[in-house]
Amino acid sequence: MKLILLGPPGAGKGTQAKMLTDYFSIPQISTGEILRTAVKEGTELGVKAKVYMDSGGLVPDEIVIGIVAERLQEPDCQNGFILDGFPRTVAQADALQTNLAEMDKTLDRVISLDVDEEALVERLTGRRTCKDCGRGYHVKYDPPAADEVCDACGGQLFQREDDCEQTIRKRLEVYSSQTTPLINYYRQSGLLTEIDGMQPIAAVQAQMLSTLQAN
Ligand code: ADP
Ligand code: AMP
Repeated sequence: MKLILLGPPGAGKGTQAKMLTDYFSIPQISTGEILRTAVKEGTELGVKAKVYMDSGGLVPDEIVIGIVAERLQEPDCQNGFILDGFPRTVAQADALQTNLAEMDKTLDRVISLDVDEEALVERLTGRRTCKDCGRGYHVKYDPPAADEVCDACGGQLFQREDDCEQTIRKRLEVYSSQTTPLINYYRQSGLLTEIDGMQPIAAVQAQMLSTLQAN
């Protein structure tokens, strides 16, 4: 299964990707997580990316395109992958198509999650993330069993710096101007399935699985 999860920040891509990863035994490739790890480790990539991430803007295409091209060559992507947060621009989508063609691969499906702006802000301001495994929680909609502790690995939960209202609004603007053209891009290629992301987490998951099993 070679899948893209498309949708604005807070739509539920990461939440669903973590479940699909277990279900299909394929890796989740989150460019956001890869970049946050680089920032935490203080690598050259991290230092470059941090400026863009802190402001809510996009990291330049050539950087993220290179990261994903390399990641797709890893052996664990042999049987498929879930791209979460990539592509985010038409240039990234074009580059992905070229990279996959070079590997004799094609995408199976693109699932777009649609969520109202005010719900996105509420989800992102209430999001908590595990510092060890990256699993996401929500203080109201998906709380951990024990306060501030990850159910999956026992890691400590934290609030992402870019999950503050001002940066969230900027990220949503960037999504609307730079990423929404991809909805038509993939609709035209016949790969797009749109799912109502306003439903509870379990209902979104059930709809995703039924769409993908019919693939
Ligand atoms: P994305 O990866 O698209 O930015 P996340 O999967 O991290 O979004 O979800 C953002 C926040 O919203 C998290 O706190 C998550 O627990 C919560 N969330 C995800 N899906 C839903 C849903 N269907 N209903 C309510 N809250 C959700
Ligand atoms: P995310 O975890 O997907 O919300 O991404 C967090 C931040 O990482 C974004 O606001 C961007 O600054 C950066 N980022 C992640 N993926 C991409 C991408 N495909 N293209 C450009 N920037 C990205």
